[in-house]
Amino acid sequence: MELDKAELSKLKELLDYGPHKIVIVSHTNPDGDAIGSSLAWGRWLEGKGHEVCCIVPNKYPYFLDWMPGIGRLGVFKEDKEGELAARIAEAGIIFCMDFNMVARLEGLGETILANKTAKTVLIDHHLEAPQGFDVYFSIPESSSTSYLAYKLIQELDGEDAITLEMGENLYVGMMTDTGNFSFSNLTADLFEVVASLVRKGLNIPRINSLVYNSYSVDRVRLLGYALTRMETLKAGATTVAYMALRESELRRFNFQQGDSEGFVNYPLTVKEISMSAMFIQTRNFIRVSFRSRGDVDVNQFARQYFEGGGHKNASGGKSFKSVPETIEYFRKCVAEFFSK
Ligand code: 5GP
Ligand code: MN
Repeated sequence: MELDKAELSKLKELLDYGPHKIVIVSHTNPDGDAIGSSLAWGRWLEGKGHEVCCIVPNKYPYFLDWMPGIGRLGVFKEDKEGELAARIAEAGIIFCMDFNMVARLEGLGETILANKTAKTVLIDHHLEAPQGFDVYFSIPESSSTSYLAYKLIQELDGEDAITLEMGENLYVGMMTDTGNFSFSNLTADLFEVVASLVRKGLNIPRINSLVYNSYSVDRVRLLGYALTRMETLKAGATTVAYMALRESELRRFNFQQGDSEGFVNYPLTVKEISMSAMFIQTRNFIRVSFRSRGDVDVNQFARQYFEGGGHKNASGGKSFKSVPETIEYFRKCVAEFFSK
Protein backbone atom coordinates (compact mmCIF):
# COMPACT_ATOMS: atom_id res chain seq x y z
CA MET A 1 0.00 0.00 0.00
CA GLU A 2 1.43 3.33 -1.14
CA LEU A 3 0.80 6.59 0.70
CA ASP A 4 0.61 9.47 -1.75
CA LYS A 5 3.70 11.67 -1.34
CA ALA A 6 1.92 14.88 -2.34
CA GLU A 7 -0.91 14.27 0.15
CA LEU A 8 1.64 13.42 2.86
CA SER A 9 3.43 16.71 2.39
CA LYS A 10 0.10 18.57 2.39
CA LEU A 11 -0.77 16.90 5.69
CA LYS A 12 2.64 17.68 7.19
CA GLU A 13 2.30 21.30 6.19
CA LEU A 14 -1.19 21.48 7.64
CA LEU A 15 -0.04 20.12 10.99
CA ASP A 16 3.18 22.16 11.08
CA TYR A 17 1.80 25.57 11.96
CA GLY A 18 0.16 24.47 15.19
CA PRO A 19 -0.94 23.76 17.75
CA HIS A 20 -4.34 23.40 16.13
CA LYS A 21 -7.84 22.86 17.38
CA ILE A 22 -8.71 19.54 15.78
CA VAL A 23 -11.94 17.60 15.49
CA ILE A 24 -12.00 13.95 14.40
CA VAL A 25 -15.33 12.57 13.21
CA SER A 26 -16.47 9.13 12.20
CA HIS A 27 -19.64 7.48 10.92
CA THR A 28 -23.07 6.70 12.39
CA ASN A 29 -23.31 3.36 14.20
CA PRO A 30 -19.57 3.55 14.79
CA ASP A 31 -17.79 0.21 14.64
CA GLY A 32 -14.42 -1.01 15.89
CA ASP A 33 -12.58 0.51 12.95
CA ALA A 34 -14.28 3.91 13.19
CA ILE A 35 -13.58 4.18 16.91
CA GLY A 36 -10.16 2.52 16.89
CA SER A 37 -8.81 4.73 14.13
CA SER A 38 -10.31 7.91 15.63
CA LEU A 39 -9.01 7.33 19.16
CA ALA A 40 -5.51 6.36 18.07
CA TRP A 41 -5.24 9.21 15.56
CA GLY A 42 -6.50 11.59 18.24
CA ARG A 43 -3.95 10.36 20.79
CA TRP A 44 -1.14 10.78 18.29
CA LEU A 45 -2.20 14.34 17.45
CA GLU A 46 -2.47 15.19 21.15
CA GLY A 47 1.05 13.92 21.61
CA LYS A 48 2.08 16.49 18.99
CA GLY A 49 0.55 19.25 21.10
CA HIS A 50 -2.78 19.71 19.34
CA GLU A 51 -6.12 20.10 21.07
CA VAL A 52 -8.25 17.18 19.93
CA CYS A 53 -11.92 16.27 20.17
CA CYS A 54 -13.18 12.91 18.79
CA ILE A 55 -16.86 12.79 17.85
CA VAL A 56 -19.24 10.09 16.60
CA PRO A 57 -22.87 10.75 15.55
CA ASN A 58 -24.43 8.19 17.90
CA LYS A 59 -23.52 5.78 20.66
CA TYR A 60 -21.08 2.91 20.08
CA PRO A 61 -21.99 -0.73 20.86
CA TYR A 62 -21.47 -1.96 24.44
CA PHE A 63 -18.78 -4.52 23.52
CA LEU A 64 -16.46 -1.65 22.58
CA ASP A 65 -16.89 0.30 25.82
CA TRP A 66 -13.54 -0.97 27.18
CA MET A 67 -11.47 0.58 24.37
CA PRO A 68 -8.62 2.77 25.69
CA GLY A 69 -9.75 6.40 25.83
CA ILE A 70 -13.37 5.70 24.84
CA GLY A 71 -14.56 7.97 27.66
CA ARG A 72 -13.30 10.96 25.71
CA LEU A 73 -15.31 10.11 22.64
CA GLY A 74 -18.09 12.69 22.22
CA VAL A 75 -21.49 11.34 21.15
CA PHE A 76 -23.14 14.05 19.07
CA LYS A 77 -26.71 12.83 19.72
CA GLU A 78 -26.11 13.25 23.45
CA ASP A 79 -24.66 16.77 23.06
CA LYS A 80 -27.51 18.59 24.83
CA GLU A 81 -25.40 21.61 25.86
CA GLY A 82 -23.99 22.21 22.37
CA GLU A 83 -20.47 21.61 23.64
CA LEU A 84 -19.46 19.37 20.76
CA ALA A 85 -21.08 21.69 18.21
CA ALA A 86 -18.94 24.53 19.64
CA ARG A 87 -15.78 22.40 19.28
CA ILE A 88 -16.68 21.74 15.65
CA ALA A 89 -17.37 25.43 14.96
CA GLU A 90 -13.95 26.48 16.28
CA ALA A 91 -11.95 23.63 14.72
CA GLY A 92 -9.12 24.55 12.36
CA ILE A 93 -8.73 21.00 11.02
CA ILE A 94 -11.39 18.30 10.72
CA PHE A 95 -10.34 14.70 10.13
CA CYS A 96 -12.99 12.40 8.67
CA MET A 97 -12.25 8.78 9.49
CA ASP A 98 -13.71 5.62 7.95
CA PHE A 99 -16.54 6.98 5.82
CA ASN A 100 -16.95 8.26 2.29
CA MET A 101 -20.28 10.12 2.33
CA VAL A 102 -21.32 13.03 4.52
CA ALA A 103 -24.75 11.35 4.62
CA ARG A 104 -23.15 8.73 6.86
CA LEU A 105 -22.84 11.39 9.58
CA GLU A 106 -26.61 12.03 9.67
CA GLY A 107 -27.29 15.23 11.75
CA LEU A 108 -23.61 15.75 12.53
CA GLY A 109 -22.94 16.36 8.83
CA GLU A 110 -24.69 19.75 8.78
CA THR A 111 -22.67 21.01 11.75
CA ILE A 112 -19.44 19.92 10.06
CA LEU A 113 -20.37 21.57 6.77
CA ALA A 114 -21.28 24.80 8.62
CA ASN A 115 -17.60 25.27 9.51
CA LYS A 116 -16.46 26.76 6.22
CA THR A 117 -12.94 27.70 7.32
CA ALA A 118 -11.63 24.39 8.68
CA LYS A 119 -9.27 22.36 6.53
CA THR A 120 -10.66 18.89 5.96
CA VAL A 121 -8.75 15.62 5.69
CA LEU A 122 -10.25 12.29 4.62
CA ILE A 123 -8.69 9.10 6.01
CA ASP A 124 -10.72 6.20 4.65
CA HIS A 125 -10.74 2.88 2.84
CA HIS A 126 -14.19 2.86 1.18
CA LEU A 127 -14.66 2.93 -2.57
CA GLU A 128 -15.42 6.16 -4.46
CA ALA A 129 -14.15 9.00 -2.30
CA PRO A 130 -16.25 12.19 -2.47
CA GLN A 131 -14.91 15.53 -3.72
CA GLY A 132 -14.18 18.54 -1.59
CA PHE A 133 -11.52 17.55 0.95
CA ASP A 134 -8.27 19.49 1.27
CA VAL A 135 -6.20 16.36 1.84
CA TYR A 136 -7.05 12.78 0.81
CA PHE A 137 -5.96 9.42 2.06
CA SER A 138 -8.61 7.31 0.39
CA ILE A 139 -7.18 3.82 -0.07
CA PRO A 140 -9.75 1.07 -0.80
CA GLU A 141 -7.08 -1.63 -0.79
CA SER A 142 -6.38 -0.90 2.86
CA SER A 143 -8.24 -3.57 4.85
CA SER A 144 -9.23 -1.03 7.51
CA THR A 145 -8.95 2.67 8.28
CA SER A 146 -7.03 1.68 11.42
CA TYR A 147 -4.31 0.03 9.31
CA LEU A 148 -4.16 3.18 7.18
CA ALA A 149 -3.89 5.35 10.32
CA TYR A 150 -1.06 3.10 11.54
CA LYS A 151 0.81 3.51 8.26
CA LEU A 152 0.34 7.28 8.37
CA ILE A 153 1.70 7.61 11.91
CA GLN A 154 4.57 5.25 11.06
CA GLU A 155 5.41 7.36 8.01
CA LEU A 156 5.08 10.76 9.71
CA ASP A 157 6.54 9.98 13.12
CA GLY A 158 8.10 6.50 13.16
CA GLU A 159 6.79 3.26 14.63
CA ASP A 160 7.87 4.15 18.17
CA ALA A 161 5.24 6.89 18.23
CA ILE A 162 2.58 4.16 18.40
CA THR A 163 2.01 3.32 22.05
CA LEU A 164 0.46 0.06 23.25
CA GLU A 165 -2.77 1.92 24.01
CA MET A 166 -2.94 3.30 20.47
CA GLY A 167 -1.98 -0.14 19.19
CA GLU A 168 -4.92 -1.73 21.01
CA ASN A 169 -7.31 0.72 19.41
CA LEU A 170 -5.81 0.19 15.97
CA TYR A 171 -5.79 -3.59 16.39
CA VAL A 172 -9.53 -3.59 17.16
CA GLY A 173 -10.12 -1.82 13.85
CA MET A 174 -7.83 -4.14 11.89
CA MET A 175 -9.37 -7.23 13.51
CA THR A 176 -13.04 -6.29 13.14
CA ASP A 177 -12.88 -4.91 9.59
CA THR A 178 -11.11 -8.02 8.32
CA GLY A 179 -13.50 -10.42 10.07
CA ASN A 180 -10.70 -11.47 12.40
CA PHE A 181 -8.17 -11.55 9.57
CA SER A 182 -10.24 -13.65 7.20
CA PHE A 183 -11.47 -11.27 4.46
CA SER A 184 -9.59 -9.63 1.59
CA ASN A 185 -6.55 -7.35 1.44
CA LEU A 186 -4.64 -9.37 4.04
CA THR A 187 -1.16 -8.26 3.07
CA ALA A 188 2.11 -9.43 4.57
CA ASP A 189 2.64 -5.90 5.81
CA LEU A 190 -0.63 -6.01 7.79
CA PHE A 191 0.71 -9.03 9.68
CA GLU A 192 4.05 -7.25 10.15
CA VAL A 193 2.15 -4.38 11.76
CA VAL A 194 0.37 -6.88 14.04
CA ALA A 195 3.74 -8.50 14.85
CA SER A 196 5.12 -5.11 15.80
CA LEU A 197 2.14 -4.52 18.10
CA VAL A 198 2.62 -7.95 19.69
CA ARG A 199 6.25 -6.98 20.40
CA LYS A 200 4.88 -3.92 22.20
CA GLY A 201 2.77 -6.16 24.43
CA LEU A 202 -0.52 -6.48 22.54
CA ASN A 203 -2.58 -9.27 24.11
CA ILE A 204 -4.57 -10.72 21.20
CA PRO A 205 -6.64 -13.31 23.11
CA ARG A 206 -7.71 -10.62 25.59
CA ILE A 207 -8.86 -8.26 22.84
CA ASN A 208 -10.52 -11.07 20.93
CA SER A 209 -12.48 -12.02 24.02
CA LEU A 210 -13.43 -8.44 24.88
CA VAL A 211 -14.84 -7.85 21.39
CA TYR A 212 -16.25 -11.21 20.34
CA ASN A 213 -17.09 -12.97 23.60
CA SER A 214 -18.83 -10.19 25.48
CA TYR A 215 -22.40 -10.55 24.24
CA SER A 216 -25.57 -11.05 26.24
CA VAL A 217 -27.69 -14.22 26.33
CA ASP A 218 -30.45 -12.26 24.55
CA ARG A 219 -28.08 -11.50 21.69
CA VAL A 220 -27.18 -15.14 21.16
CA ARG A 221 -30.87 -16.13 21.24
CA LEU A 222 -31.69 -13.36 18.75
CA LEU A 223 -29.00 -14.73 16.43
CA GLY A 224 -30.54 -18.20 16.65
CA TYR A 225 -33.98 -16.74 15.95
CA ALA A 226 -32.75 -14.74 12.95
CA LEU A 227 -30.93 -17.74 11.46
CA THR A 228 -33.97 -19.99 11.87
CA ARG A 229 -35.96 -17.50 9.82
CA MET A 230 -33.30 -17.05 7.13
CA GLU A 231 -34.68 -17.27 3.56
CA THR A 232 -32.78 -18.11 0.42
CA LEU A 233 -33.44 -17.37 -3.22
CA LYS A 234 -31.74 -18.32 -6.45
CA ALA A 235 -30.88 -15.81 -9.14
CA GLY A 236 -29.18 -17.51 -12.05
CA ALA A 237 -26.12 -19.27 -10.65
CA THR A 238 -26.12 -17.17 -7.48
CA THR A 239 -27.82 -18.16 -4.23
CA VAL A 240 -28.74 -15.23 -2.00
CA ALA A 241 -29.79 -15.39 1.66
CA TYR A 242 -31.65 -12.77 3.63
CA MET A 243 -32.90 -12.22 7.16
CA ALA A 244 -35.15 -9.50 8.53
CA LEU A 245 -35.80 -8.43 12.11
CA ARG A 246 -38.76 -6.23 12.92
CA GLU A 247 -38.83 -3.77 15.82
CA SER A 248 -41.29 -5.97 17.75
CA GLU A 249 -38.96 -8.97 17.38
CA LEU A 250 -35.97 -6.92 18.51
CA ARG A 251 -37.89 -5.77 21.59
CA ARG A 252 -38.73 -9.36 22.47
CA PHE A 253 -34.98 -10.07 22.70
CA ASN A 254 -34.20 -6.83 24.63
CA PHE A 255 -32.22 -5.58 21.65
CA GLN A 256 -29.32 -3.25 22.40
CA GLN A 257 -27.40 -1.39 19.74
CA GLY A 258 -24.67 -3.65 18.39
CA ASP A 259 -26.53 -6.90 19.10
CA SER A 260 -27.08 -7.64 15.40
CA GLU A 261 -23.41 -6.96 14.55
CA GLY A 262 -22.05 -9.84 12.50
CA PHE A 263 -25.37 -11.64 11.92
CA VAL A 264 -25.17 -10.94 8.20
CA ASN A 265 -21.94 -12.94 7.92
CA TYR A 266 -23.43 -16.27 9.05
CA PRO A 267 -25.30 -17.21 5.84
CA LEU A 268 -21.98 -17.01 3.98
CA THR A 269 -20.80 -20.05 5.95
CA VAL A 270 -23.14 -22.06 3.67
CA LYS A 271 -21.17 -23.32 0.69
CA GLU A 272 -23.53 -22.25 -2.09
CA ILE A 273 -24.54 -18.86 -0.66
CA SER A 274 -22.50 -16.01 -2.12
CA MET A 275 -24.54 -13.00 -1.00
CA SER A 276 -26.24 -12.27 2.29
CA ALA A 277 -28.58 -9.45 3.28
CA MET A 278 -29.83 -8.37 6.69
CA PHE A 279 -32.73 -5.98 7.30
CA ILE A 280 -33.04 -4.42 10.74
CA GLN A 281 -36.07 -2.24 11.37
CA THR A 282 -35.37 0.95 13.34
CA ARG A 283 -37.81 3.71 14.27
CA ASN A 284 -37.40 5.70 11.05
CA PHE A 285 -36.12 3.30 8.43
CA ILE A 286 -34.74 -0.17 7.80
CA ARG A 287 -30.99 -0.56 8.14
CA VAL A 288 -29.68 -2.82 5.43
CA SER A 289 -26.40 -4.76 5.44
CA PHE A 290 -24.92 -6.79 2.63
CA ARG A 291 -22.04 -9.24 2.52
CA SER A 292 -20.75 -11.31 -0.37
CA ARG A 293 -17.87 -13.35 -1.58
CA GLY A 294 -15.85 -13.42 -4.74
CA ASP A 295 -17.09 -11.35 -7.63
CA VAL A 296 -20.51 -10.48 -6.23
CA ASP A 297 -20.25 -6.71 -5.86
CA VAL A 298 -22.50 -5.57 -3.02
CA ASN A 299 -21.06 -2.04 -3.08
CA GLN A 300 -22.64 -1.71 -6.51
CA PHE A 301 -25.83 -3.39 -5.31
CA ALA A 302 -26.18 -1.07 -2.28
CA ARG A 303 -25.52 2.03 -4.38
CA GLN A 304 -27.92 1.02 -7.12
CA TYR A 305 -30.88 -0.02 -4.98
CA PHE A 306 -30.47 1.02 -1.32
CA GLU A 307 -28.96 4.53 -1.20
CA GLY A 308 -25.78 3.09 0.27
CA GLY A 309 -22.38 1.71 -0.55
CA GLY A 310 -19.24 0.47 1.16
CA HIS A 311 -16.87 -2.17 -0.16
CA LYS A 312 -17.16 -4.82 -2.86
CA ASN A 313 -17.85 -7.60 -0.34
CA ALA A 314 -19.38 -5.59 2.55
CA SER A 315 -21.82 -2.74 2.18
CA GLY A 316 -24.91 -1.19 3.67
CA GLY A 317 -27.79 1.11 2.95
CA LYS A 318 -31.30 2.11 3.95
CA SER A 319 -34.91 1.43 3.04
CA PHE A 320 -37.83 3.70 3.86
CA LYS A 321 -40.46 1.11 2.90
CA SER A 322 -42.18 -1.33 5.27
CA VAL A 323 -40.50 -4.66 6.03
CA PRO A 324 -42.61 -6.76 3.59
CA GLU A 325 -42.28 -4.11 0.87
CA THR A 326 -38.53 -3.93 1.42
CA ILE A 327 -38.23 -7.69 1.07
CA GLU A 328 -40.35 -7.74 -2.07
CA TYR A 329 -38.27 -4.89 -3.52
CA PHE A 330 -35.05 -6.70 -2.54
CA ARG A 331 -36.14 -9.90 -4.29
CA LYS A 332 -36.87 -7.92 -7.47
CA CYS A 333 -33.52 -6.14 -7.25
CA VAL A 334 -31.70 -9.45 -6.87
CA ALA A 335 -33.48 -10.87 -9.92
CA GLU A 336 -32.56 -7.80 -11.97
CA PHE A 337 -28.98 -7.49 -10.69
CA PHE A 338 -28.05 -11.10 -11.44
CA SER A 339 -29.87 -11.28 -14.77
CA LYS A 340 -27.08 -9.29 -16.44
P1 5GP B 1 -22.42 -2.72 8.10
O1 5GP B 1 -23.24 -3.73 7.38
O2 5GP B 1 -21.39 -3.37 8.97
O3 5GP B 1 -23.23 -1.68 8.79
O4 5GP B 1 -21.62 -1.94 6.98
C1 5GP B 1 -20.80 -2.60 6.06
C2 5GP B 1 -20.03 -1.61 5.24
O5 5GP B 1 -20.92 -0.82 4.48
C3 5GP B 1 -19.22 -0.65 6.06
O6 5GP B 1 -18.00 -0.47 5.41
C4 5GP B 1 -20.00 0.61 6.06
O7 5GP B 1 -19.17 1.71 6.11
C5 5GP B 1 -20.79 0.55 4.77
N1 5GP B 1 -22.14 1.09 4.97
C6 5GP B 1 -23.07 0.67 5.84
N2 5GP B 1 -24.20 1.40 5.77
C7 5GP B 1 -24.00 2.32 4.80
C8 5GP B 1 -24.78 3.37 4.24
O8 5GP B 1 -25.94 3.63 4.62
N3 5GP B 1 -24.20 4.10 3.25
C9 5GP B 1 -22.94 3.85 2.79
N4 5GP B 1 -22.44 4.59 1.82
N5 5GP B 1 -22.18 2.88 3.30
C10 5GP B 1 -22.68 2.10 4.28
MN1 MN C 1 -13.65 0.55 8.18
